[in-house]
Amino acid sequence: MQNWFIQHFGLDAVYVAFRVCPTELKNAVQGMRALGIQGMNVTVPHKEAVTAWTDEYSSEVTLLGAANTLKNVDGKISAFVTDPYGFIESLSENSARFNQADVLLFGAGGAARSVCYALSRLSVNRIILHDIDDQKTESLLRLCRTNLGLTKTVALKSIADDMNDIIAATPIVINATAIGMHPQENQSVIENVRTINKGHFFYDLIYNPAKTRFLRMAEKAGAVVQSGLDMLIFQGLQSMRIWTGEELKLNHASMQELRTLLTHFLGNHE
Ligand code: NAP
Repeated sequence: MQNWFIQHFGLDAVYVAFRVCPTELKNAVQGMRALGIQGMNVTVPHKEAVTAWTDEYSSEVTLLGAANTLKNVDGKISAFVTDPYGFIESLSENSARFNQADVLLFGAGGAARSVCYALSRLSVNRIILHDIDDQKTESLLRLCRTNLGLTKTVALKSIADDMNDIIAATPIVINATAIGMHPQENQSVIENVRTINKGHFFYDLIYNPAKTRFLRMAEKAGAVVQSGLDMLIFQGLQSMRIWTGEELKLNHASMQELRTLLTHFLGNHE
């Protein structure tokens, strides 16, 4: 995808992948300085740990404690996180739905933290959080209430009994877990919910498969649904903007071309 951007925008750059083991992370960042590499993306499992080895952080990295983009200017390495921007930009005209809305969010890992930051920027009313790990739920709850100004955020301990009622009263439902991701395509964080209707917006951060069981179930009940593919594209584009300092944009045709390419590359199917 990044090499597609490089070609598309006519940049003089090349993007390559390196596998870095945790004990070499500091050396990898030092190597960026030593070799004059201008930009790096950092992914699982290094997003949190890498912040220990960079010189500066964006305000989002300071808040979320994780980075996925590093920029090297004359040996000074700055850390950024582009997932919240990827999420917001992916919503396009659906972003209006979030203003003062209640949101049910599954997952409290790294991606969910970025989503919560994005939700604070989208002026939601309240987030209802659920993760199977109570400690992660508590930690994200604290972040939302204390640092993101989302003071009405609540945690849902169990989803068994009242899911129909909760979803009936909550217009936006987001999956930020890996449940339903290839090859576990027959799984979903929720099952047999009878209260989904055409007023609902269901968003799944997963992009492979293109339509998870979670989204298929919601779409069948009339909801508007969206996968994580556009978020993937826009978080990557945001990294490119940070590295180049240019307001890079994709028109409709280019966006469609990239979606098709990625869908093919990922071996996605509906
Ligand atoms: P993560 O750190 O592992 O967080 C996922 C969280 O969900 C974990 O705390 C996990 O708990 C919890 N969980 C598992 N099953 C659950 C269930 N049934 N109900 C509620 N919570 C449950 O993963 P992540 O990095 O945040 O990524 C999450 C998903 O987002 C992945 O599928 C990833 O590919 C996707 N993602 C997409 C984009 C994009 O651009 N579209 C960007 C980032 C991430 P345990 O650890 O105990 O299992």
